[in-house]
Amino acid sequence: MKNSFDAIVVGAGQAGPSLAVRLAGAGWKVAFVERHLFGGTCVNSGCTPTKTLVASAHAAHLARRASDFGVHAGPISVDMKTVKARKDAIVMKSRSGVEGWVRGTRNCTVYNGQAAFESPHTMRVGEDILEARHIFLNVGARPLVPKMLGIDSVPFLTSTSILDLEELPRHLVVVGGGYVGLEFAQMFRRFGSQVTVIDKNPRLAVHEDEDASQVIREIFASEDIAVRLNATCIHLEKREGAISVGLECDEGAPHINGSHVLLAIGRTPNTHDLNLPAAGIEADAAGYIKVDDQLRTCALGIYALGDCNGRGAFTHTSYNDYEIVADNLLKGESRRLSDRIPVHALYIDPPLAHVGMSETEVRRSGKPALIGKRAMTRVSRAIEKGETFGFIKVLVDRESQHIIGATIFGTGGDEAIHAVLSAMYAHQRASFMTHSMYIHPTVAELIPTVFGELKPLE
Ligand SMILES: Cc1cc2nc3c(=O)[nH]c(=O)nc-3n(C[C@H](O)[C@H](O)[C@H](O)COP(=O)(O)OP(=O)(O)OC[C@H]3O[C@@H](n4cnc5c(N)ncnc54)[C@H](O)[C@@H]3O)c2cc1C
Repeated sequence: MKNSFDAIVVGAGQAGPSLAVRLAGAGWKVAFVERHLFGGTCVNSGCTPTKTLVASAHAAHLARRASDFGVHAGPISVDMKTVKARKDAIVMKSRSGVEGWVRGTRNCTVYNGQAAFESPHTMRVGEDILEARHIFLNVGARPLVPKMLGIDSVPFLTSTSILDLEELPRHLVVVGGGYVGLEFAQMFRRFGSQVTVIDKNPRLAVHEDEDASQVIREIFASEDIAVRLNATCIHLEKREGAISVGLECDEGAPHINGSHVLLAIGRTPNTHDLNLPAAGIEADAAGYIKVDDQLRTCALGIYALGDCNGRGAFTHTSYNDYEIVADNLLKGESRRLSDRIPVHALYIDPPLAHVGMSETEVRRSGKPALIGKRAMTRVSRAIEKGETFGFIKVLVDRESQHIIGATIFGTGGDEAIHAVLSAMYAHQRASFMTHSMYIHPTVAELIPTVFGELKPLE
């Protein structure tokens, strides 16, 4: 059956639902298609479950450290079934909230199923053919499963399936020392597993500055998390009744035998089954849909938002894509991707938050710059809380004095970074920060101090 709409929105991720509700509110007749769970990755297998588990892991960590604070606690044990039940309840509440919101929206018809293009303006969902002048793709991404030697010979976990574990792995081997792998590594160590992280790169979190990687190593060493770097030729096999991850590292044994293996080596966009050629939509070699600065694909009236366009890999970037598209279409604005300032956090504990250019990028660019840095061991709030890993680092353009980047790695860093982010959106100079008065005692109060101690970046 052919059904005509003003817009088809595919995917209930971080952009789709808000866009559908806003278009419907503006009087558009909207078809909304979701093939699996409302809320997409963030709600069901990304931010929400992992940060809920990180909170449980933090509670266990703090309980073990209780005596550092003069508190006497009994023996600590973690009940994984209860930990999972808490996570599931929070996820379910969020998922059903999104679903109820979209289903309850006037002018919006929900289709449950897989959407694929039939032609530039028609999509098939099961028996239904949907037609619209505007189509918005928010189809997201999924864990990348590599063509690794031995991949079919042993069971492995992904960032999605690990969330269903109700038992504690005896020894979790995490392949991949990026954001996802590091969060799970620390979390499961704190739950009580032995954990080894393997990475092919010479350092963890290779996209961050070297000093950040160094602090991550220090944190992991303090929690007895093993790390094996420079692992070439990573492969899987069954050995001595265990799941074995083979590696050829610079040093150490050539195999790690674990009870469970988590593959956390990246994500791949859900674009292979959309039949993009039928709509004349171009994707790059990795499958990411090519978009211009306003999220338009090369096919008229078709937009790609969120992880599937490769222009961001976070909830806030996907949501910001929605805001750009909606404001441009409904308010006649001309918002652009290039206007946004990159910002992200890595949710190990303590968290690492970063905005703008990194020190590595500034050095590579050859831009004359100033740098300020202070260790968390010199931040009162961190000392009082007994959480002194990390640092505050800021970067300023030497000529214009404009703020160009900052990293706050340490307790409260994920919140404090927004002071710098707002100043950057307001195109402020370092003096704007040094003339601001902040609340004592906070981590953020040291940001003006660090901006007041700038030195040339040599
Ligand atoms: C373990 C983990 C932790 C993370 N933690 C964070 C974090 O702390 N902070 C952060 O900002 N980001 C985090 N992320 C990333 C974040 O989850 C994503 O960037 C975010 O969810 C944006 O996704 P999206 O809107 O592009 O689409 P998604 O949320 O992936 O949703 C896409 C939806 O489209 C549906 N779909 C796909 N194809 C079709 C089709 N053909 N027809 C119908 N429906 C379809 C899917 O079922 C899915 O529901 C994390 C990710 C992971 C994996």
